[in-house]
Amino acid sequence: MKLFIAALGTETNTFSPIPTGRAAFLEDLYVETGASRTSDHWFAGPLKVWRTMGEAAGYAVVESLAAFAPPGGPTRQDVWVDLRDRVLADLRAAGPVDMVLFDLHGAMVAEEQDDCEGELVAAAREIVGKGVTVGVELDLHCHLSERIVAASDVLLTYKEYPHIDVDDRARDLFRLCDDARAGRIRPTIAVADCRMLAVWRTPNQPTRGFVDRMSAAEGRDGILSLSLAHGFPWADLPDVGAKVVAVTDGDPDLARATAEALARELWEMREATTDRLLTLDEAVQVALDPPAGVTVLADVSDNAGAGAASDSTFLLRALVEAGATRCAIGSFWDPVAVRLCREAGLGARLALRIGGKTGPMSGDPVDLAVRVIGIQADAVQTYGNGKQPMGDCVMVEAGGLHIVLNALRTQVFQPSAFEQFGVSLTDYATVFVKSAQHFNAGFAPRADRILHVAVTGSANPDFAALVLPRAGRPLWPIVADPFA
Ligand SMILES: [Zn+2]
Repeated sequence: MKLFIAALGTETNTFSPIPTGRAAFLEDLYVETGASRTSDHWFAGPLKVWRTMGEAAGYAVVESLAAFAPPGGPTRQDVWVDLRDRVLADLRAAGPVDMVLFDLHGAMVAEEQDDCEGELVAAAREIVGKGVTVGVELDLHCHLSERIVAASDVLLTYKEYPHIDVDDRARDLFRLCDDARAGRIRPTIAVADCRMLAVWRTPNQPTRGFVDRMSAAEGRDGILSLSLAHGFPWADLPDVGAKVVAVTDGDPDLARATAEALARELWEMREATTDRLLTLDEAVQVALDPPAGVTVLADVSDNAGAGAASDSTFLLRALVEAGATRCAIGSFWDPVAVRLCREAGLGARLALRIGGKTGPMSGDPVDLAVRVIGIQADAVQTYGNGKQPMGDCVMVEAGGLHIVLNALRTQVFQPSAFEQFGVSLTDYATVFVKSAQHFNAGFAPRADRILHVAVTGSANPDFAALVLPRAGRPLWPIVADPFA
């Protein structure tokens, strides 16, 4: 028996000013074969799972590309075509296979392709034919086109946001696809369109209960797998929006009814799952008059994990002007400032221009007299069971602020983004992180409270104000009732 595996992803924010070219993949994850044995990148985790489970089950494993770029603007067409054709050429070269498993994002857009993953999986289906089992694992921030569903035997998404279950879902996918290949089950997939744009934080109720009910229903009464594809709102595309995926054992009516019932449940929860977001002024007020303990404030609008630049200065400028103290803020994607600090050296004092370089949604640069208090070469953060590179990283002090800057654009995942410089979260009253939710896994156990701030940015969470003319149907909260 032969198993073919590949991993390819990025998350495309069609409003992002960041072009996604070849370097974005090369600097983050790009391994032409064998990433399951050589890479500790989190996105390669499913390949490790599938190699281990596949070999234990007696498959010869043929491993193709593992590539991931940080979320940004649309991928250059020539780069996409090269990545796609590399995977498809490997699949052809593998000869007859029994099973194909893809680890994809599901919100990758190229300059001339709205639905990269759908195109890839449909082309793979074309190559292997109808009788071969094709399984797809997606990030829950995916668009889920009809094409990718039609080309897959089993399709599921992560259930958790933060994505702490990437490898667990890879195990689910392997088991289901191995059962399908062996004829023990006959998976059938249905999708319900929720017509909603939102963020669901899965550690928080009532979303926690929704996810737990999905998990509890799996493996009984003919239900094989349930996923809530949260969708990725910052993409003007026909498939944008949340969807529920139900996979049943040979029962399309049950799949459809289950998916639709969950979609209705999600709709009923909409008010309770809507975030309370602070304004910039409210956030500064928290820093000026901090409650006891450590408060973490997430600058969700500048989340690199949603394709934002991660160099916006709106909050930094306001904190400086207000004279806030005992604050940490980061991480600013500013390779030039990092370079200047490294050259100046540890302990050096210099005039530093920070952030505000990428475009109008980043604000203007902030000029500060700083002291370099930490330098780390090739910093990494843990993310789930894997790693995410930060590049060279520095911490500078200016007044009562500690500011982290890094050279490879990424969000803050862990307190280590600050604590790698020998400080502790408890040194601060207020910690501002450029992230929307992934930081939660590492910070929640150590923070006294977590708040979210919305300012200008390419990942601004004011979904009612999103302009999505290509969505092709009404979406909440742009309209009050998208089914009216
Ligand atoms: Zn995601």
